[in-house]
Amino acid sequence: KYTGMSKDRMIEIRRQNCNPMTMKVTYYKKPVFIHQGYMQWLWDVDGRRYLDLFAGVATVGVGHCHPKVTAAAEQQLKKLWHTTNIYVYPTLHEYCEKLASHFPDPLKVIYLTNSGSEANDLAILMARLHTGNYDIISLRGSYHGGSPQTIGLTSNAAYKYPVASGFGCTNTMCPDVFRGPWGGSHCRDSPVQTIRECTCAQGHCMANQQYIAQLKETFATSVPNRIAAFFGEPIQGVGGAVQYPKNYLKEAYKLVREQGGICVADEVQTGFGRTGSHFWGFQGHDVIPDMVTMAKGIGNGFPMGAVVTTPEIAASFSKGLHFNTFGGNPLACAVASSVLDTIREDDTQQNSLRVGTYLITELAKLRDKYEIIGDVRGKGLQIGVEMVRDKASRDPLPPEAMAEIFEDVKDMGVLIGKGAIYGQTFRIKPPMCITKEDADFFVAVFDKSVRNYMEKR
Ligand code: PMP
Repeated sequence: KYTGMSKDRMIEIRRQNCNPMTMKVTYYKKPVFIHQGYMQWLWDVDGRRYLDLFAGVATVGVGHCHPKVTAAAEQQLKKLWHTTNIYVYPTLHEYCEKLASHFPDPLKVIYLTNSGSEANDLAILMARLHTGNYDIISLRGSYHGGSPQTIGLTSNAAYKYPVASGFGCTNTMCPDVFRGPWGGSHCRDSPVQTIRECTCAQGHCMANQQYIAQLKETFATSVPNRIAAFFGEPIQGVGGAVQYPKNYLKEAYKLVREQGGICVADEVQTGFGRTGSHFWGFQGHDVIPDMVTMAKGIGNGFPMGAVVTTPEIAASFSKGLHFNTFGGNPLACAVASSVLDTIREDDTQQNSLRVGTYLITELAKLRDKYEIIGDVRGKGLQIGVEMVRDKASRDPLPPEAMAEIFEDVKDMGVLIGKGAIYGQTFRIKPPMCITKEDADFFVAVFDKSVRNYMEKR
């Protein structure tokens, strides 16, 4: 039972002493006061249980306070919290070897950081040093971090400030086959097509060349042959689970390399088995990046991040001295190592595939039932439900309507997220341990809240 600080007092402190922005992003009219978590469940201070389908934004991969990970953290806490990585200690080496074994050649050199923004900052620096070029391209709608450098890559007005940040960053059109001008009106008949792996000759499958032409135009309007890097998430996260047409990343990587750049996959949200079919999102695109950045799921909620790259790129970077006090500390490594073991032992990747595919298929039925559910997409447990005023216009459902459904879903005991550039997409990224019954429960709750909204409208 919770016996801590009152809810009113917490709100008062949040108003006075915390980042004022966080008052806005509690999202809910009636905020949720979380007290405890276990696997896919969260409890509030009143003892009310929620099914957590947001997992701290895809961060808690194997489950809140997973007993195996908690035990690993406890053991390490008693042994050694921290020492500088000038010294050689086992947890770092055990972890780096284990993480490297999850990558194809030549991705074998690991740099450990404390967050995703830090990982992407480092990736920007390494790309520039290695290529001798400066310009970096990312996709519109993407989120790659909130540090001054990564704000330049991030392409979503909500995170932008009117100050110079991220010099040399350019955004190119996101190959979004639902909201973009090409594709999206076909290929909706089967779950496989909802997962966007179709290769038929219509709809989004044909749209690829149009989006690739946009990328070429970006090159044609940049310094010729002087691209440092292209950053892309395998499936956009904050952008609203946007999936690209098949082969987009493959062709984009080829073009970027022709322009002298390296290719970076931001796996902060999609890594560690979340997409179900593969351990890394990039594997679903049949590409091998030159650099992979990760965070969130790496530590199941423990602050951590990483950049994985090739020995060649690492060599270009080793001309200077790079140091990170907490990156790769013994505690983080013990936790992250146990996360990798747990993903394997609990078979969470397979569960992501099984329950995720089922959930996408069930949500697609609601898309066919309601005029305001425009698109259901995703892979594994990286899912987006894009809401519209109506299917013909595809205009985004206004924020007030989104907020109403969102609140209703929460009041019925399920936590989900919101995102995309107009805030029009519900984001579903649960801990990968959820069951088919949890998926059924959410579908029933979502069905009811959309119905409630439609009846009032
Ligand atoms: N990349 C992606 C794809 C993300 O979703 C995020 C966080 N939402 C980041 C980078 C930045 O990570 P962090 O908040 O740990 O700095």
